[in-house]
Amino acid sequence: MKRRTGQDQSITRQWRPATQAVRGGTARSEFGETSEAIFLTSGYAYDCAADAAARFAGEQQGMTYSRLQNPTVEMLEGRIALLEGAEACRTMTTGMAAMTAVLLCQLQTGDHVVAGRAAFGSCRWLVDTLLPKFGIETTVVDARDPQQFADAAKANTKVFFFETPANPTMDIVDLKAVCDIARARGITSVVDNAFATPALQRPMEFGADVTAYSATKMMDGQGRVLAGAVCGTEDFITNTLLPFTRNTGPTLSAFNAWVVLKGLETLDLRIRRQSENSLKVGAFLESRVPRILHPGLASHPQHNLAMSQMDACGPIFAFEVADRKQAHGLLDGLNLVDISNNIGDSRSLMTHPASTTHYGVAEDKRLEMGVTEGLLRLNVGLEDAQDVIDDLDQALTAVGL
Ligand SMILES: *Cc1c(COP(=O)(O)O)cnc(C)c1O
Repeated sequence: MKRRTGQDQSITRQWRPATQAVRGGTARSEFGETSEAIFLTSGYAYDCAADAAARFAGEQQGMTYSRLQNPTVEMLEGRIALLEGAEACRTMTTGMAAMTAVLLCQLQTGDHVVAGRAAFGSCRWLVDTLLPKFGIETTVVDARDPQQFADAAKANTKVFFFETPANPTMDIVDLKAVCDIARARGITSVVDNAFATPALQRPMEFGADVTAYSATKMMDGQGRVLAGAVCGTEDFITNTLLPFTRNTGPTLSAFNAWVVLKGLETLDLRIRRQSENSLKVGAFLESRVPRILHPGLASHPQHNLAMSQMDACGPIFAFEVADRKQAHGLLDGLNLVDISNNIGDSRSLMTHPASTTHYGVAEDKRLEMGVTEGLLRLNVGLEDAQDVIDDLDQALTAVGL
C-alpha cells in the first residue's frame, strides 16, 4: 500500500474539507487503482515467523488481524480524521458502538458525566440506564444553556456529552462556551456531530476534545450501511479508545467502510443541496403548521448561534402538529416522503419520534426533551424540493392543516 506517488502529508493536510472528502486517506495498492480497494480479509500472512513475532511486538509495521487493522477501514479512518481536522479517527460498526466505546473507554465507577437533555434515544439510554448500572453518576442538563454545564460539574466530572443540533428537537449547543467550561476544569468534551458532519461543523475548531459519529447518517448518506466513528488526539485514540475497542471488538467491516468512503466523496455536494432543499421545505411548512424547529430559519430561537457554528443548516428539522392522531394522519397521507426513522438519507423521510425513535424514553423524560405527541421530524433529501413541498401540501390539506 502506498500513498499516491509524490503525495506529501504536509501538502495533503492543507486540503480543504471538500477535497479531503474525495481524496483524504487514499492509499493505493501495487495496482494503482483509482477507486479505493475493498480488502475483505480477516487475517494476514507473514513472510516468516520472525516477522509475525515482530509485528505482535510492535517492532514491525503491518497488519495482524482485521479486528485490529484493515487497509480499507484505515483509509476511511484517515479520510474522516482529515475531514475533521483531527489527529486520529477510529471507526466502529455503528454510531451507537462509537458512543458506547467513547464513554466506557474513559469512565469508571465513581466518575460523573454531564449530558445534554435532547439526544438520540439510545444516547439517552446510555446516560440514563447503562452508565448508572456501573456506578457512573450522570446529570442531564438543558444543553442550550452553557451555564447549566458549569453548575452541574463536580470534582469527579470526567465527561460532557452532547449533540448539536440535537435529535430531534434541534436544540443548539454553544460549542465554544461549553467546551471552554470543560477545558478550564480538565473535563473531556465529547460531541455527537452526526447531524452536521464535519462538512458543515467542526467542533474541534471550537475547542471540543472528541467528536463521535453515526456515519450511517450523512456520511453514507444513501441509506445503505451502518457505521460509526470517533475522532480525537492521537494520544486519546491510541491510549484510551484503542485498548477498549481492540479487545471488545466493535470493528467496522471492510465492505461497509468502503461504502462510507464512496459516500464521503459526495458528502459536501449532498449536504449543501439537502440544506438548501430543507430551507425551502421549512419556509413552506412555517406558514402551515403551528410550530417549526428549523435551525436555518430566523424563527428558531438559536438561529444566529446555529449559523455561527455551521456552514449551512443541514437536512433535518422538526415541526409540531396538534397531537399524535394528526401526526400519524399526516404521515399516512404522504406519497413521496417515506415514513422512516432514518436520517441523512438522499430520500426525504419523516418520522413521529414519540412513537418510534424515542418510544423507549420514559414519557416524562420525553416531554422534558421536548418530544411532544405532535412532534414530527423530517429529513429533506435530494429530490426536487418542489415535489417534496407538493407532497406535504396535499398531506397537510388532508388532515385539515
Ligand atoms: C443515528 C444516531 C446515532 C446512532 O447511530 P447508529 O449508526 O444508528 O447506531 C447516534 N447519535 C445521533 C445523533 C444519531 O442521529
